[in-house]
Amino acid sequence: MKTLILSTSEEDLERAAHIIREGGLVAFPTETVYGLGADAMNARAVAGVYEAKGRPGDNPMIVHIARASDLGQLTPTLSPDIVTLVENFWPGPLTMVLRKKPGVPDRTTGGLDTVAVRMPDSEAALGLITKAACPVAAPSANISGRPSPTRARDVIADMDGKIDAIIEGEDCRIGIESTVVDMTGEVPVILRPGIITAENIKAALGKEVVYDKALLGKISEENQEGIKPKSPGMKYRHYAPKADMTVIEGQRDKVKAEIERLKALNERLGLKVGVILFEEKAFIEAAHDFFARLRDLDSEGVDLILAGALSDTDGVGFAVMNRMLKSAGYNIARV
Ligand code: AMP
Ligand code: MG
Repeated sequence: MKTLILSTSEEDLERAAHIIREGGLVAFPTETVYGLGADAMNARAVAGVYEAKGRPGDNPMIVHIARASDLGQLTPTLSPDIVTLVENFWPGPLTMVLRKKPGVPDRTTGGLDTVAVRMPDSEAALGLITKAACPVAAPSANISGRPSPTRARDVIADMDGKIDAIIEGEDCRIGIESTVVDMTGEVPVILRPGIITAENIKAALGKEVVYDKALLGKISEENQEGIKPKSPGMKYRHYAPKADMTVIEGQRDKVKAEIERLKALNERLGLKVGVILFEEKAFIEAAHDFFARLRDLDSEGVDLILAGALSDTDGVGFAVMNRMLKSAGYNIARV
């Protein structure tokens, strides 16, 4: 398939919107990562997204809208808490899991009776969705399992020849995917951490917000001692670079020293080693750069990536750590 490379001009957004309306696939920039979009209400189009990504069919997608008034097409109930989050965080990097209306295809929601919805904060994305005049289902525009794409060239590397068009926009401002919060119960539950933190949501709602147990359990269980093998429970590596990857965790000076030691050791054995070590507490920069660094190190052909853990139990650093540990297949060395 010949993939059109489009700009963010009005004219090109109109062409891209036309492709989506006709059931085609278009990758587009958002403020978080690049998305691979299809008409969310067209099951056949959505099936094409799974195929292009090589993604398991039971993994639900986020449905993107351009106006809050489009929520009514997707969900039958809007609680006061949901309205508060819309007012506080949309457009922006917050996805809400809501009860779904029957018209939303099972293909889009992985057979669940809920639908994940977000209004992105990027002019190109909002322009595209508005012109398409339908909700746009979009997972990240990478081959399933690979690091999420935060630059147009990352999307081209994974998707050229597999989809109808790629909108070439700016590098993504945030760099990690949206926070996902389940709003279907009494207490909001964070399913995926992101730039909008539990603390931010708690402050807006004036009530308790919890993390999904799987999110915390995985980390504490794996953190106990030394280098652990890949967790047997993790069937797939997520966000994975081609290189092997180890996260070094502990007090900052020790982490630095251990990275130097392991780097020298591996280089002496003829391996090419890449290092990811962010400035202490520079969590926003870490979020912005993390996936791009993984992809750059892969392009350089490194065999091993050594990454310094970020020390943060709750905020943006925690969200980056969630991706870092998954990329490394929970391969952690504690010093
Ligand atoms: P991605 O498509 O790569 O941005 O990932 C979408 C994320 O949203 C995944 O972690 C999904 O599991 C999650 N998600 C999407 N829809 C739902 C839903 N209805 N219920 C729970 N999680 C969802
Ligand atoms: Mg993804």
